[in-house]
Amino acid sequence: MQYETIIGFEVHVELSTATKVFCGCSTKFGNPANTQVCPVCLGLPGSLPVLNRKAVDYAIRAGLALSCRINRHTEFERKNYYYPDLPKNYQISQLRHSIGEGGHLDIIVDGRKKIVRINNIHLEEDAGKSIHVEYGPGKGASTSSALSTQHSALSTQHSALSTQHSALSTQHSALCSLVDLNRAGTPLLEIVSEPDIRSVEEAVAYMNALRNLLLYTQVSDCNMHEGRLRFEVNISHRPLGQTELPNFRSEIKNLASMKSAARVIEYETRRQTRALDKGEALRHDTRLWDEARGRTETMRSKEQAHDYRYFPEPDLVEVEIDDAWLERIRATLPELPAAKITRFVAQYGLPEYDAEILTASRALADYYEAAAAALTYRPSPLSAQHSALSTDPSALSTQHSALSTHPSPLSPQPSALSPQPLPLSPQHSALSTQHSSLKALSNWIMTELLRELNDRNLEPSESPISPENLAGLVKMIADGTISGKIAKDVFAEMLEGRGDPKSIVEQKGWVQVKDTGAVEAWVDDAIAANPGPAREYAEGKDRALGFLVGRIMKASKGKANPQMVNDLIRKKLRG
Ligand SMILES: [Zn+2]
Repeated sequence: MQYETIIGFEVHVELSTATKVFCGCSTKFGNPANTQVCPVCLGLPGSLPVLNRKAVDYAIRAGLALSCRINRHTEFERKNYYYPDLPKNYQISQLRHSIGEGGHLDIIVDGRKKIVRINNIHLEEDAGKSIHVEYGPGKGASTSSALSTQHSALSTQHSALSTQHSALSTQHSALCSLVDLNRAGTPLLEIVSEPDIRSVEEAVAYMNALRNLLLYTQVSDCNMHEGRLRFEVNISHRPLGQTELPNFRSEIKNLASMKSAARVIEYETRRQTRALDKGEALRHDTRLWDEARGRTETMRSKEQAHDYRYFPEPDLVEVEIDDAWLERIRATLPELPAAKITRFVAQYGLPEYDAEILTASRALADYYEAAAAALTYRPSPLSAQHSALSTDPSALSTQHSALSTHPSPLSPQPSALSPQPLPLSPQHSALSTQHSSLKALSNWIMTELLRELNDRNLEPSESPISPENLAGLVKMIADGTISGKIAKDVFAEMLEGRGDPKSIVEQKGWVQVKDTGAVEAWVDDAIAANPGPAREYAEGKDRALGFLVGRIMKASKGKANPQMVNDLIRKKLRG
């Protein structure tokens, strides 16, 4: 039978506040265990939480970016459960009065836009971390030294652990669990989607789009290696054509990477559809993902909200979010990805596909814009208009398309653009050069630069090639100083930090040769050395041209002007 996959996400994101959500302890990652704790986040009796306003600011910010309705009245509740890394035996969270509800996030899969609805976003506190240390005779050395490091960090538990350590060493192959409460109380935003996702591709697009949006709004650094962004997948299957949701679903918690989430979806799709085919009844359950074995295992049957005995947190006041607060946050929101895509298409005349890739991270979009700004052209009667173009986002494409549709250079200019008639022809060509350079810049970034950055695991802001130097390279191709082939070599030199494109080309003597005599000599040599292809081309076989041009470019070490080479071959062999 054919099935449809139904996926919803609960995404946990640690907010980038300097201090925890209910106390003044630092949220810094990577310090020795239990050095960022106080009576409040240790859950000691008599301590009282105080809400961190910045955490609420960030939650509102994320909510607005996700088009949520921000609830003006919000309050906290206790979610009761026992776990060793949860010292209070309850987590302060939100159930009935969350920060935001009813938002959405747009994703693009195979060029098609899809809206994923957001049920709610709510603020809660993160738990601590359990560290399970296993050591025995075979692997004693490294793990027991890891444990010793832990020992010195866990100063209060030091003597207890030392005793335990020696006891365990003699027992061999024992298991020891340590708890680090540095993370306990870090503000956590939970973003709960509706079950609108239908495939692993859509799931990956959703995770990427969400991460991108959170990075744009700067509410979190979303560092997955530090566990700042974690995924929980809810997944079920129904026969294709059925409209109501299945009466079961599996929740797979605590996925630390998008790759794991994608693997979980693939695994669960196989497991669930196989079970449904066999007529087995599937249960509502919570499952754990075993990364090493690549499978999920049932942990417990699904608990319901009432199992947690939620009740209002008596130690915190209710929070009223007024207009002024909301507007203050709204005013600081940056341009978000969807708006940026629209602007990139309008301002730079880029295809939507390019705009989507370039805006996939704020840093990459900034890189493109810095490079585009560096692509300036010769000052001319255009300069006034040029500066108008750089300040008005939509002017370039409007003007460009207006110009392109004008059949004759004598047609009157659209009056909105310029009250005075300007020489249109050179302007048109300058604009199309600019237009094609802006597109060429996009191509260089999407292919060469992104590949190199990925290989080196670098962010666009850490690129070894500055936006200005990449723009310089594109300009040198556009004005014919170097060929596209040489440009790749210049790019490789720039990657190694050997300076700006102009000085590299000068040092290496890579300037394109446009001297007719020199190019003609290369052409004559190639024709003489390859009589077969030369005859074929002369007899009308166009394919032979590529071969001859290739030979000439090789002989000239890429420096012959390709247009000139083409013209000369045609002239010599076909008259
Ligand atoms: Zn604390």
